[in-house]
Amino acid sequence: MSYQALYRVWRPQRFGDIAGQQAITKTLRNALVQDKTSHAYLFTGPRGTGKTSAAKIFSKAINCPNVKDGEPCNQCEICESITKGKLGDVIEIDAASNNGVEEIRDIRDKANYAPTQAEYKVYIIDEVHMLSMGAFNALLKTLEEPPTNVIFILATTEPHKIPLTIISRTQRFDFRRISPQAIVERMRYILGEKGVQYEEDALITISKAAEGGMRDALSILDQALSFSEGTLKTEDTMRITGSITQELLIEYIRALSEQQTEKGLNILHELIAEGKDPSRFVEDMILFSRDILLYHTAQSDTLLKMAKVDEPFEQLASALSPDLLYEVIQVFNATQQEMRLSNHAEVYLEVATVRLTQVRQPVRDEGTTVQPQATSAPSDEVAALKKQMAEMQKLMQSMSAGEAAAKPAAPKAKRAMKSSAVFKVNRPSVYNILEKATKQDLVQLKDVWPDLMNFLEASQKAIMNTSTPVAASARGLVVTFDYDILCERATNDKVLIATIGDYLEKVIGHRAEMVSVPAEQWPTVRQDFIKQMKAEEHSEQSEETETKQEDTEIKIEPVVSEAVKLFGEALVKIEE
Ligand SMILES: [Zn+2]
Repeated sequence: MSYQALYRVWRPQRFGDIAGQQAITKTLRNALVQDKTSHAYLFTGPRGTGKTSAAKIFSKAINCPNVKDGEPCNQCEICESITKGKLGDVIEIDAASNNGVEEIRDIRDKANYAPTQAEYKVYIIDEVHMLSMGAFNALLKTLEEPPTNVIFILATTEPHKIPLTIISRTQRFDFRRISPQAIVERMRYILGEKGVQYEEDALITISKAAEGGMRDALSILDQALSFSEGTLKTEDTMRITGSITQELLIEYIRALSEQQTEKGLNILHELIAEGKDPSRFVEDMILFSRDILLYHTAQSDTLLKMAKVDEPFEQLASALSPDLLYEVIQVFNATQQEMRLSNHAEVYLEVATVRLTQVRQPVRDEGTTVQPQATSAPSDEVAALKKQMAEMQKLMQSMSAGEAAAKPAAPKAKRAMKSSAVFKVNRPSVYNILEKATKQDLVQLKDVWPDLMNFLEASQKAIMNTSTPVAASARGLVVTFDYDILCERATNDKVLIATIGDYLEKVIGHRAEMVSVPAEQWPTVRQDFIKQMKAEEHSEQSEETETKQEDTEIKIEPVVSEAVKLFGEALVKIEE
């Protein structure tokens, strides 16, 4: 018999088997019992949280002649053929591969035929956000006039990409990430059924790594089982999931509390060099610090989410002040937010490390004064990223000045500094675009911008997330970025620039090259360009008097009209 993946073998067949979504499964069962089902459902939520399983169970329950308390019997002919995916009346469509208008039109035509074997025809459209606009419109028409005895179940991980007109015609259920406890329970059940021995910690490691997805948890479990002979070992699960050991977390927190910047950075670089996931490290640090705090107050391990109480843990817990822990949680929370916007996870982690090791030191050696921060009252104001970066940069400078001789940490710190230094705008390129820019081009670009964002890959979107198109010509576009670091990335990412060019060529009919400018510098760049244009226009006449009137630029008519053409009236009025 060929091997079948655990998540297939153990796919839930009853609502009661779906882990961690009790509120949803109860509501669906009640609707079935009371005969109050809707003709269209939208199941949203992260992958592996039970959306398609629930959809299939629902399609069984609504058709099963032996349905009991809203649960299908799983034994009748109808249940069995739905489980096997062989019932013609339950149609599963993967929108990721069938995104054409034709397919949906096809659904519309076929939906009008009555079901053949079952009572209800059920269309399950997975990854529905992948449908094209045309296909959405076709689907909308069907939902507006639903054929009798037809039910649509739309499933998606990205509900924000679905038109509101569709959403408003469905009953929506948001599947949540499954709690680690529920995942552990399910794995315990499966391993019990299979008769496999396991170390309890191994299950905890997997449940954390799965981040709320049962499918991921079972895939990791599968992998771990193929490693282990006989017993499922914690060690194997750690290796597979790239988890960070408690020892390392303790060592890192100790470096923070002892204000050993270099040691902290070394641990960090070691982790990253080993291929550990920076965002998991942040997550682990927040949870671990929380656990130490709880242990402080409760002296019991019942509330702990990830920490294992052993001797080093107890030693650390008794030595640390809650102040530091509050600060760790606060700084890492902010870091987590910042990391979401950028691919520079490493830099933000370095910054957090430097901050946490240095911030409480009022004075550094060689008399370099670091801004002291009150240690008693943990400030709850989370400073804006930009401000924070500037502050961190200062700290880093003082650090590399103070530790010029420092070995492995120094080059990293310098690299971080360099990437957050002031971004140099490519003025000739910007000016080239501005010379030919029209408001019409900009309006058109802004119109397609949200679609372009949806079109980009996650990593590209992370860069472009805070970007705004501010000027456009037929050949180019100027885009501003809230963060210098993202502006720099966009400028250096040739693939990204080409992708955007390709997309625009396809959508608006001509290829435009993107030039990036930090939002902060844009007013100056724009002003300088207007100045230069004005200077060129009047250079023959009165060069001298012009240059002296620096503050009274936009006075000359042609320049005003030119500026209006470029940026729209509203903007130019503000300038005046
Ligand atoms: Zn049945």
